[in-house]
Amino acid sequence: MNVNATLINLYVVCPRECWLHANGINMEHTSDTVYDGKLLHETSYPQRAERYEEMLISAEYEDITLIGQIDYFDARNKVIHEIKRSDKVEEAHVRQVKFYLWLLELNGVDGATGILEYPKLRKTDEVLFSDEDRQGLQKALSAIQSLIGNESCPPTINAKICKSCSYYDFCYSREE
Ligand code: SF4
Repeated sequence: MNVNATLINLYVVCPRECWLHANGINMEHTSDTVYDGKLLHETSYPQRAERYEEMLISAEYEDITLIGQIDYFDARNKVIHEIKRSDKVEEAHVRQVKFYLWLLELNGVDGATGILEYPKLRKTDEVLFSDEDRQGLQKALSAIQSLIGNESCPPTINAKICKSCSYYDFCYSREE
């Protein structure tokens, strides 16, 4: 089983979304948000590519393969830089960077830190990784493993966020 930061965040937001995503039912190609995010990434810091390296990283944890794609990694200072298009700070962004910090640790890079960058807000936030974070991720992984091993899709959550979810039509079209 492969797990990335997206899957962990989906699990926290909605187990159904996590299950659908993990089982290959994806709707993101229809989302302008994904496109805008890519555009911002490409245009915000054109000079960045010369200084830092984008990095694909993976690690084995128990029988799970963990995969991450870090925006920019400053290897000399051991700092992950993650750029967000959002005009608001979200807990999901912090979880994503903490997941990457754990991946680094599993690859023998201890003591790294992260910086979340919000160009629209002209703001940066530092992200640190603690024992508690590590334990939280380990717990989430075992919960995700049992969730997506289930044959049936979890029920809809009827939450406010459903309206902006790419699976909205899939989840609720039969109810209208
Ligand atoms: S529409 Fe709601 S219930 Fe369906 S996957 Fe999205 S968040 Fe979950």
